[in-house]
Amino acid sequence: MSKTLIVAELQNGAPREAALELITQARGLGGELVSLVIGSGVAEAAEDLAKRGGGRVLAADDAALADYTSGAYAQAIRRALDQESPDLLLLSNTPIGWDLAGKLAAALDAGVATDVVRIEQEGDDLVFIKRMFNAKLDSRLRVTGSPRIATVQPGACEAYAGSDAGSVESLDVSGCGSRTVFKELRTAAAGGHDLTKADLIISGGRGLQKPENFDSVLKPLVEALGAQMGASRPVVDSGWLPHEYQVGSSGQVVAPKLYMAVGISGAIQHLVGMKNSNFIIAINKDADAPIFEVADLGVVADLFEIVPALTEAVSAAKGG
Ligand SMILES: Cc1cc2nc3c(=O)[nH]c(=O)nc-3n(C[C@H](O)[C@H](O)[C@H](O)COP(=O)(O)OP(=O)(O)OC[C@H]3O[C@@H](n4cnc5c(N)ncnc54)[C@H](O)[C@@H]3O)c2cc1C
Repeated sequence: MSKTLIVAELQNGAPREAALELITQARGLGGELVSLVIGSGVAEAAEDLAKRGGGRVLAADDAALADYTSGAYAQAIRRALDQESPDLLLLSNTPIGWDLAGKLAAALDAGVATDVVRIEQEGDDLVFIKRMFNAKLDSRLRVTGSPRIATVQPGACEAYAGSDAGSVESLDVSGCGSRTVFKELRTAAAGGHDLTKADLIISGGRGLQKPENFDSVLKPLVEALGAQMGASRPVVDSGWLPHEYQVGSSGQVVAPKLYMAVGISGAIQHLVGMKNSNFIIAINKDADAPIFEVADLGVVADLFEIVPALTEAVSAAKGG
């Protein structure tokens, strides 16, 4: 692949972990790497990215880009595409990445692959690999049009950890604007259930079958171990537990001393949120569940048998 342009998202003025992962993906393909940083007052972030492997970094720095609007950001990316003519445009598979990828693909009549975990060079072509059926199958996509556009799932690879000296150039983004007006950013009120500070987390998934089982099956073990309860997204989406319980790419990212996943398959969006835990125990009746790939201790069993037995053993050990 001769040239890749990545759009590096920022958080609190610094490149997001997901941006450094795009660098890993792009560098894996070889060729020239150009990174784009968009916002207002982004000089420091651009320098930072250049030092962290971002290659030649374009800083799209303008007051009109201070807050995200898809129109203005898409225009800034179009300026970079016109200047650089890359073969591949990579974005993160985040709400901003989805928003921009679809808009740009439609405007450029280019093909887009979303939620990609890996990219492989095959002859002159690129193959975009995407997980299906809870990571039991990989789909291999080829994309037509130019540039090829892809959004990459955060956590699908390691963040680039090299420190190659890159360079920073400013990109002319004068006149980039949007008919959309940014009004305000509302963040969810912090709840009392902060999993990021917990040492022990026991999370339940769809395998628990119904909300009552969180109280009758999982909670006794959580209490016996003095742990905090977490959950996978379907549990939260079904309204069984509030969003502050959700672990994963669209929930909380945790790294406790012990993480126990009960009846959770281990989709990549869940793994992203817990794979850095110190010790991981997985209980699942399906021996092929992807959660076992990250587990230090895997128990292939029916949770409705093993969890009450474990609770009893913990209580007995505590003399209760
Ligand atoms: C953009 C996006 C963001 C997402 N963000 C998140 C996120 O932040 N967090 C998240 O968790 N997911 C997220 N998801 C959803 C994710 O892709 C999976 O769908 C989800 O993690 C699956 O949840 P689960 O493992 O509880 O359910 P399932 O995949 O249905 O797995 C249930 C598991 O329970 C096991 N099981 C069933 N019965 C028993 C039993 N009796 N004993 C033992 N095991 C049993 C099954 O074998 C199965 O492995 C996101 C998806 C998208 C597209």
